[in-house]
Amino acid sequence: MTVARQVRLRARPVGLPDAGTWDVVDTELPALGDGEVLVRVTHLSLDPAMRGWLNDVRSYVPPVGVGEVMRAFGVGTVLASRSPEHAVGDAVSGITGVADHAVLRGSDLSPVDLDVASAPTWLGALSMPGLTAWFGLFDVARAQPGETVLVSGAAGAVGSVVGQLAKAHGCRVIGVAGGPEKTRWLTEELGFDAAIDYREGAVHRAVRAIAPEGVDVYFDNVGGEVLDSALRTLRRGARIALCGAISTYNATEPAPGPAHYMSLLVNRASMTGFVVFDYEDRYPEAIADLSARLRDGSLVARETVVRGGVDAFGDTLLMLFDGGNTGKLVLEL
Ligand code: NAP
Repeated sequence: MTVARQVRLRARPVGLPDAGTWDVVDTELPALGDGEVLVRVTHLSLDPAMRGWLNDVRSYVPPVGVGEVMRAFGVGTVLASRSPEHAVGDAVSGITGVADHAVLRGSDLSPVDLDVASAPTWLGALSMPGLTAWFGLFDVARAQPGETVLVSGAAGAVGSVVGQLAKAHGCRVIGVAGGPEKTRWLTEELGFDAAIDYREGAVHRAVRAIAPEGVDVYFDNVGGEVLDSALRTLRRGARIALCGAISTYNATEPAPGPAHYMSLLVNRASMTGFVVFDYEDRYPEAIADLSARLRDGSLVARETVVRGGVDAFGDTLLMLFDGGNTGKLVLEL
């Protein structure tokens, strides 16, 4: 019998999650049924979306229920198998939940080739964040060579891939991120043309100084004031890919709408929300492209890996909301 250490939702948070949000429990896992595998989870993906999954509201997935194991993507090793799809010793990824061991349906897991990339990269550039960047930039924003692309959350998991893909596609790329270390990383190591520290002043003024003619694409990861500022920099025919709005995820009151939304009308621009899960049928195409770029070095994957057991989950999650991560935030168990 395997005992799993799990993090469960104790109470829905108001504002930032805290110690009262979570219960850490040890549970005996059931014996394997037909088609199931026992997985030792080695790495967990920490995602801004997790904050949304805690709210009891209608969304693109149902909320995590009070008392349930917190939803999370993870990578792990198969310890026992009654599934034809995965053998003992295989590395797999999927929705494992925040737990060090889990009994899961083999058909819900994907094989992971650790010769292609490390487990953290299989949760970042080769998983939801990389896919979100790929489909958001090429399908939603329809970025074209020669265009100017502005991306916020640029030093994070999604944003850092967006900027690199756009650059390789022949775009001029401006990143928006918090702090000098992140902006330096973007320009000096990832090849962004420019990077703006949004904590240093109004983003639209900085964008205008860099690109007086305005931006063709704004890839929005943060919403709030940065979105409002970005709206003031649009060129005629600009496209905004609404990927996320992390600046509002812990708000206790509804966030005010963007004041400058009429810029969409004036500039015949559009703003399109998207959810990466809608592209599931096309994941293999994007993963093949992202892996090739990683292999030839044209895409750099960076992860902030925190080492700790599942007990460290609650504190580590908070790093996303104060900019403690560069690239993908991963908890190694
Ligand atoms: P991430 O960017 O790796 O991490 C979050 C980053 O957000 C932090 O490092 C921080 O960087 C920044 N941030 C936090 N609070 C902020 C604030 N108040 N204002 C401005 N920036 C703030 O996270 P990610 O996984 O790549 O996700 C990025 C966005 O994509 C999120 O909004 C997420 O919900 C969204 N997303 C959407 C989809 C989809 O299907 N639509 C899929 C995946 C992710 P700084 O140091 O720069 O502030």
